Amino acid sequence: MNQETLERIHSSIRDVHDFPKPGIVFKDITPILADGELFRLTIDCFIDAIGEEKPTKIVGIDARGFIFGAALADRLGVGFVPVRKKGKLPWETNGASYSLEYGEAHVEIHKDAVHAGEKVVLIDDLLATGGTAEAALKLIKGLGGEIICIVFLIELLFLEGRKSLDADIRTETLLQY
Ligand code: AMP
Repeated sequence: MNQETLERIHSSIRDVHDFPKPGIVFKDITPILADGELFRLTIDCFIDAIGEEKPTKIVGIDARGFIFGAALADRLGVGFVPVRKKGKLPWETNGASYSLEYGEAHVEIHKDAVHAGEKVVLIDDLLATGGTAEAALKLIKGLGGEIICIVFLIELLFLEGRKSLDADIRTETLLQY
């Protein structure tokens, strides 16, 4: 992966303190999206991270995983599947719940979105505690998808989100904080 590109991506991510609540440092990736060249280079980095084995579906997590995931799917010429927050998908869904710091959250996937044996890459912008990605993995596995790898732009190492994820699935992060 191109080190210079990673440094450009790194320096364009904006830290927003106390958003959405006090104590959180929100990693704002919108400056990457607003720079056409950098957005394209970021997708190049995701393709490098995926490696040789080609997916047949990209599954993206609500909401910034949709942006990177859809661009990645278009570049690879494969389908895109959204994993959405509860109640947003219009058709029949499978759901999975996971714990938040306070309370529970729930994500859903359309029942026909991934076929048994399909090769899937799961993508999101950021790995924090790993709860959301782990729930998304459950949904993909529940439909019989074979997960090639999980890719994130950012990993917040201090939250140890990798520990929540299936250790047998390769997890790649472009930038670590
Ligand atoms: P988690 O389930 O704790 O790994 O949270 C991951 C989800 O929350 C991802 O979809 C992220 O977009 C979002 N998220 C969590 N923490 C942050 C943060 N510090 N900055 C930006 N997004 C975050």
